[in-house]
Amino acid sequence: MHVIDIHSVRKSFTPSQRALCDVDLQVSQGEMVALIGPSGSGKSTLLRHISGLTLADRQSQGHVQVLGRDVQRNGRLQPGVRQSRARIGHVFQQFNLIGRLSVLNNVLIGGLSRMPVWRSLTGRFTQAEQQDALDALARVGMADFARQRASTLSGGQQQRVAIARTLMQRAEIILADEPIASLDPESSRLVMETLRRINQDDGITVVVTLHQVDYARSYCDRAVALRHGQLQFDGPMQDLGADQLAQLYRGLPDTQP
Ligand code: ADP
Ligand code: MG
Repeated sequence: MHVIDIHSVRKSFTPSQRALCDVDLQVSQGEMVALIGPSGSGKSTLLRHISGLTLADRQSQGHVQVLGRDVQRNGRLQPGVRQSRARIGHVFQQFNLIGRLSVLNNVLIGGLSRMPVWRSLTGRFTQAEQQDALDALARVGMADFARQRASTLSGGQQQRVAIARTLMQRAEIILADEPIASLDPESSRLVMETLRRINQDDGITVVVTLHQVDYARSYCDRAVALRHGQLQFDGPMQDLGADQLAQLYRGLPDTQP
């Protein structure tokens, strides 16, 4: 079964320019997919379509399904979007942690969507939930930082806490948009290793947009490449050759790293 099924998604933010041109993409459970391409090629826009944060053009016939449920169809949100969103974990370039809260509380927030609303309003977590959050932190190598304020962590550490939060959420799909774009090489390696480990150990499907093609090569099975909103390549990572990469970035100032 495809956990993500994108069919013929077209998006124009302005009449003159198309951000996505009839993109098709199917992702199977347990894949780790690198979404690559020059800046402005539509990577973030495609990710946002998966969780229904951006809607395709109304006149298009496209649809997006996640875990067998319709997220959007013909540019309209579908009732399945709520359940789908609960099963998608987001990781962004800017870590989106709450700086003045402890690391542990930031992870616990990931569990809110699994609670009955009345419980989430109390702001209290059970022992079992706290243990769950500590386990999630241990999985990303951050258990020792549980009581620290999130704002005191380095960028790479914050990113790993953001990943722990998706574990707490019990996300089945992680969409990571440029998770290592602002990190140094060592932190980048740790973040990519963490994503890869939970992908392999838990079978969580990961779609990650990356500027650095060498990280895609080291950690991902499959490459999907966009240029000007068009799919240029979709296949096993090792099949993405130097020629194809040169084509992908040709004539663009945003040089291939
Ligand atoms: P990437 O993530 O590959 O850098 P984006 O998906 O952010 O590319 O952008 C693709 C194209 O869509 C770009 O031309 C960008 O300017 C445009 N775009 C993205 N989001 C918006 C928006 N909210 N409003 C207008 N244009 C947008
Ligand atoms: Mg982007």
